[in-house]
Amino acid sequence: MVKIKIFIPNKIFNKVNDITYDEIKKFNIKGFLLDIDNTLAGHQDPNPFEGVVDWIEILRKNDIKILLISNNGEERVSKFAKLLKLDYISKGNKPFKKNIIRGCNILKVPHENICIVGDQIFTDIFGGNISNIKTFLVTEVHTGLENSILFKTKRRIEKYIINKYYKKERR
Ligand SMILES: [Mg+2]
Repeated sequence: MVKIKIFIPNKIFNKVNDITYDEIKKFNIKGFLLDIDNTLAGHQDPNPFEGVVDWIEILRKNDIKILLISNNGEERVSKFAKLLKLDYISKGNKPFKKNIIRGCNILKVPHENICIVGDQIFTDIFGGNISNIKTFLVTEVHTGLENSILFKTKRRIEKYIINKYYKKERR
């Protein structure tokens, strides 16, 4: 059997602003690496989802360090980062470890206190797990790419992994 543990997040949320400060303390998180597309905003949407700005403000007030890390290009990522006044890595090449580790070093927080948050198991979660940091998956589905066959297939595999996660939770 394929070892799927490497694809399983530490926790699944519907959306980022469901990650409460209590949850952050419970997981002993002091820094976040945040994906952008379908995590903080719709794909290529310049504006963040409702509640994201307030959520980031809560993190800031509690001295939780934040870095955006996206596989998207410089123009998209830099504009979004500027809007939220956050540092960023564009063309992140997730799931490869190189930029994830670089991001961790920029945060200047012990790696065991860092969590990556994203919507994609094969980039954000897998990349975070192989980099030995915590991983949160957000699952709220947004319109846009959903119609392509590749995307549907990917979502089906993700659903399978998510089900495994919930089985693990019940144990
Ligand atoms: Mg994404």
